[in-house]
Amino acid sequence: MPDTFKAIMVSRDEDKKQSVGVETLTVDDLMEGDVVVSVEATTVNYKDGLAITGKSPVVRHWPMIPGVDFAGTVESSDHPDWKPGDKVILNGWGTGETHYGAYAGKSRVKGDWLIALPEGMSAHDAMAVGTAGYTAMLCVLALERHGITPERGPVAVTGSSGGVGSVAISILAKLGYHVIASTGRTSEENYLKGLGAAEIIDRNELSEPGRPLGKERWAAAIDSVGSHTLANLLAQTQYGGAVAACGLAQGFDLPTTVMPFILRGVSLLGIDSVMAPKALREEAWARIKTDLDASKLASLSKTIGFDEIIETAHAILDGKVRGRVVVDMKG
Ligand code: NDP
Repeated sequence: MPDTFKAIMVSRDEDKKQSVGVETLTVDDLMEGDVVVSVEATTVNYKDGLAITGKSPVVRHWPMIPGVDFAGTVESSDHPDWKPGDKVILNGWGTGETHYGAYAGKSRVKGDWLIALPEGMSAHDAMAVGTAGYTAMLCVLALERHGITPERGPVAVTGSSGGVGSVAISILAKLGYHVIASTGRTSEENYLKGLGAAEIIDRNELSEPGRPLGKERWAAAIDSVGSHTLANLLAQTQYGGAVAACGLAQGFDLPTTVMPFILRGVSLLGIDSVMAPKALREEAWARIKTDLDASKLASLSKTIGFDEIIETAHAILDGKVRGRVVVDMKG
């Protein structure tokens, strides 16, 4: 008899009404792949909230085990790069969307999707970073490649009490940037300053329709919010600056004009974590190891159990989750 494990499954009925429940599975129930991983830790990202609640069409194969990222130990492998006992991380590649994802005791995936857990990093800490934190690092790398150094001026971070925002602030501050954190939760001022934010602004300053160009306030920005917020960030970016855009917490629209681009040479840098090439992922995780303080990571994350995933998925869409949530799958 193969081992059984619990899995969260989202399903649809004939009327496309979505439901979510917990099922008991064996490895034979998993989708195809050449590596089976025992999932030690996962997390609840914004996208997982969308998948579990059905608020956006994240799931594109039914039924589906959601969960876009995990860290764990290889149990069996037919892939030349991996052997039993290897510690691995997975982010994206369609897991939790088109391929059974992280909210299960085990996952069978393609070995090409895995990267090695950085030396000295635990599965728990990797998921405290999670896809949100790895995406924050991709944003920082994109700004660096654009030549944005701390000497160029402040960097604005939106959605700053959230996962991407909290990790972005921590990394930027450690690298010496002056960080302006935009948040709807000004009550979190102490938390954000503890992560390294130098200034806090109310997100209402950026979330309403604004002028095509405004006062030049920052050299760069990391935006996980989209919509008017992204338009206003662009309009207030200094000459030659850049905005790394990775999210849509306010909306997926972008009601901007060409003015920041053609009069100030501002660049809009698109960030995708899901299909990012392996070399870029490895670079991002290596930089996370060196440029994200363990104490900051501890202060921006909390740990929950498997049974709390579904309620946390609802809470993250309601903007009620601060920082990052780690799911301990072995607890
Ligand atoms: P979180 O929910 O943890 O953070 C989002 C934050 O955005 C909230 O905490 C809140 O911050 C702010 N926010 C929420 N609603 C609104 C609103 N209506 N208007 C303005 N601000 C709002 O999510 P994550 O950090 O995990 O993800 C953030 C975004 O990035 C999501 O859209 C997600 O899909 C996207 N993402 C994209 C990736 C990619 O590959 N491109 C990868 C990972 C995430 P505050 O309370 O401080 O204002």
